[in-house]
Amino acid sequence: MPTKNERDPVMVLFRHDLRLSDNLALCAATEKNRPIVTAFILDEQSEGVRPLGGARRWWLHHSLSALTADLQKRGLKLVLRRGPMAETVTALAEEAGASTVYWNRRYDPAEIAADTDMKAALRERDLETESFSGHLLHEPWRLKTGSGGPYRVFTPFWRALVEAVHPRPPADRPENLTPFEGKVATDTLEDWHLLPTKPDWAKGLRDTWTPGETGAQRRLTEFLQGRGDGYKARRDVMGEAGTSGLSPHLAHGEITPFQIWQALDGDTDLAGEDARTFRKEIGWREFCWHLLFHNPKFATENFNRDFDAFPWQRDDKALRAWQRGQTGYPVVDAAMRQLWQTGWMHNRARMIVASFLVKDLGLHWRQGEEWFWDTLVDADPASNPANWQWVAGSGADAAPFFRIFNPVLQGEKFDPKGNYVRGFVPEIEALPDKHLHQPWKAPAEMLDKAGIKLGDTYPRPMVDHKAARERALEAYKSVKKAG
Ligand SMILES: Cc1cc2nc3c(=O)[nH]c(=O)nc-3n(C[C@H](O)[C@H](O)[C@H](O)COP(=O)(O)OP(=O)(O)OC[C@H]3O[C@@H](n4cnc5c(N)ncnc54)[C@H](O)[C@@H]3O)c2cc1C
Repeated sequence: MPTKNERDPVMVLFRHDLRLSDNLALCAATEKNRPIVTAFILDEQSEGVRPLGGARRWWLHHSLSALTADLQKRGLKLVLRRGPMAETVTALAEEAGASTVYWNRRYDPAEIAADTDMKAALRERDLETESFSGHLLHEPWRLKTGSGGPYRVFTPFWRALVEAVHPRPPADRPENLTPFEGKVATDTLEDWHLLPTKPDWAKGLRDTWTPGETGAQRRLTEFLQGRGDGYKARRDVMGEAGTSGLSPHLAHGEITPFQIWQALDGDTDLAGEDARTFRKEIGWREFCWHLLFHNPKFATENFNRDFDAFPWQRDDKALRAWQRGQTGYPVVDAAMRQLWQTGWMHNRARMIVASFLVKDLGLHWRQGEEWFWDTLVDADPASNPANWQWVAGSGADAAPFFRIFNPVLQGEKFDPKGNYVRGFVPEIEALPDKHLHQPWKAPAEMLDKAGIKLGDTYPRPMVDHKAARERALEAYKSVKKAG
């Protein structure tokens, strides 16, 4: 048993909270006035914890590098360890002689289980532990419907959250941190090989993003000081930077919803309906976490079990064409290439490509969810499956299955000037707007003039949307029968 001493170090764990400001665990440690050991644990081994995809690994590398630099400025080192949470943290606490361990809570059920084990192991060794509210406005177990269960429908959930939760002011970045002077072994970031090398596919990610707390704050400021003007209407226009781009920063906890709330209450250009809509979108994130907390198998099982009867297709060639942006539907291809190049995709485009995969191609939503998990820098264990299930119709408060997006009409409506398609599908950029979203309808001489040979320089549509729609509705009958 360790003997407690007033000078024993306090250990603070970083996981989904790669920031110094509004970090309650770090603030509590600072108040102890004792040396602080800061550590990041990469846990891909605890049972049920989903290993990160490639794009998030890239982000994590850079975010940890930014956090290390921020801590160094304050005299602190970030210890890096890899392994199952409970064993790794108890071993490190022992090596550092820490008698207290603090962390911010995680809300994925598998991660909660890992943290529960960790807490038991630490307490068994007589260490003091405390956890603090993490990356959500609401604690998912506290908000309940009138009958005492979890919410399944967004509107009443959001109403209840707004009524019950008065977001606390965010905590300041602590300045007077006492460094831990002892020595403990640490991995290096390079040891973890988080960056892609052969091939290095991350150029577009490097050009697009600045992982880390400073990058997150900059994005928020730019968005609130002009870029977000007209958010409510512009958020659906795919060729414009009309949304915040905060999702990967939120996913890594480089910024908190409390900081966003405070910024919205302050002096900002985002007001009225635009601000209300933006808050509500953050509300969807809360709702997705609420759903995951109460449905641990959300990423692998249909929320609506009637969908277990759906006759999904298996077609690896079709899946590959979708993944590579070679479907012959320009808006789908632009979106899938945006994802591959930048690690992010516009929300409207996510809905279009998800509908296309599930309904036009008849492939299981899980195949799309897994591709997004690997390629999105904001891949999130709650929002990703919740939205895939929402589009597929199998989710909570989901879009009805028979709402099948027409990729041509969606393109014409939400990319009317073709900026989005031209940005990511340059081989058809010379087509006039009128034919940009359905090149196969363009007259032969126009295609010639634009340098396009369908089936050669750009694919013909891989399915006929109208026929695919009929097939999807036919397949859906088996779900209705099961229900
Ligand atoms: C099939 C599909 C998969 C998705 N997968 C993810 C995912 O893995 N991670 C992820 O963060 N979002 C996911 N989304 C939701 C949404 O597309 C992104 O959050 C949004 O595009 C991020 O861009 P932004 O930060 O500029 O959004 P903004 O419009 O600026 O919105 C602000 C914030 O609100 C939250 N938000 C907005 N829309 C949603 C939504 N529908 N569901 C949950 N939260 C939302 C995000 O945290 C976002 O950063 C998915 C949507 C679909 C249709």
